[in-house]
Amino acid sequence: MSTMAETADPTVDVYARKYPGVPAEVILKEDLLRRGMTFTDAAMEAARGCRTQAYYLFSYNISGHHDLKEGMSTAAPEDIIFRGGTRGMKRTWIRVVLNNASPYVVDVVDGTTMLCENGVPLAEVVYPSKPEYYGKTFADGMRYEQVVPLLYNSYAFITTFRACHYWGDKEECRFCDINYNLRELRKLTGDHVTADAIKDVSKVVEVLAAMAAEPDPAKRMLTILMTGGSIVRPLRGGPDNATDFNLPYVEAIRERLGRRVPIVMITESQPLENVKRFRNAGVTSHNANLEVWDKRLFQIIAPGKAKYIGYDTWVRRLVEAVAIMGEGGVSPNMVSGVEMAQPWGFATVPEAVRSAREGFEFLMSQGVIPHLDTWCVEPGTVLAGHPPVPLDFLIQADLAWYETWRKYKLPPFAGYGPVGGGPGVAVYGNTGSVDLGG
Ligand code: SF4
Repeated sequence: MSTMAETADPTVDVYARKYPGVPAEVILKEDLLRRGMTFTDAAMEAARGCRTQAYYLFSYNISGHHDLKEGMSTAAPEDIIFRGGTRGMKRTWIRVVLNNASPYVVDVVDGTTMLCENGVPLAEVVYPSKPEYYGKTFADGMRYEQVVPLLYNSYAFITTFRACHYWGDKEECRFCDINYNLRELRKLTGDHVTADAIKDVSKVVEVLAAMAAEPDPAKRMLTILMTGGSIVRPLRGGPDNATDFNLPYVEAIRERLGRRVPIVMITESQPLENVKRFRNAGVTSHNANLEVWDKRLFQIIAPGKAKYIGYDTWVRRLVEAVAIMGEGGVSPNMVSGVEMAQPWGFATVPEAVRSAREGFEFLMSQGVIPHLDTWCVEPGTVLAGHPPVPLDFLIQADLAWYETWRKYKLPPFAGYGPVGGGPGVAVYGNTGSVDLGG
């Protein structure tokens, strides 16, 4: 536990001077997403009993499990709120990216859990408490949260297929650790059941029903996000494509829970006929993640997507899907910053921002609303060890996203909660772009 601060000028203040119109919350959030954070023993003790890291899709950490202090990789919170401090920051949700070399450390300072940079306390930290369904178990011992974790106290996240058929150097996206993460998780838990690659439909529905019964409105399920790795051949003798594989989940969820909660379906690009089938079954939003706008970079960064579907078909389907799903119902993820991945990416911030803005302009003018997910350089990827993306890029890309979104008077991308009301409104913790405005 520490009780004193050093005097280094925090990054949030340096960049607030450089970008006077940008809220401190956005700057701090982006710097945390790109550089991660770690926890002192006192802060880990204070986190005891909180909702912890679930490793539900990617590791989303910069440090590997074994590079972290004993027990931290599983006992650290999945996400946190930062708020207050001397800058009076509004409550801001953020994904916890663990990095044992980060200058950002969560510590207990004079009895309060604080986020510090190089020892300077910046904001109070609130850990997420567990919803009621956490800890319930199935007859085989599997815990409910291993089937569907809750993120940001709002998102039910279902990875229906937690591996990807895009395999090896020539196919896996270069920023992605999905297959590595599954292997690591199996080593970590020593248990192939809890880290099973395919989710059981009846278990998924059972957990969602328990989540829908949550008595605390603050932990109410706001949305159901469904995703998985790409499918290019029959899965255990069953469907050989993401639509046929995922539809039974959607149908069973709608049958049990009705239509109250949106379903966001994230798959590789699908033929429009299949997008219609998703919509008809009750999917609210279909998101085929483009990851990066520049065509040359797409082919390098996402070689499996380029090989099996191709950039032009991917983009065309996104645009045409808007007529099926409506505005807000087509929201591909963009890995914000991966356009600067070396040795292939843009070498300067202005070039990279120009490309990102060009993508926002084209897509949003057509009613497609890309959403950003700040690139976390994970150890199990081809790009492991890459330096963090410049903070200038992340701030400027957020501004470009927000300005374009406002220009076309678009709604929030469906199923991720409120967007654009300024700090303190959004719940999405993977980008600062949603915290602009107000
Ligand atoms: S398509 Fe790419 S980003 Fe998606 S799971 Fe497969 S390798 Fe990862």
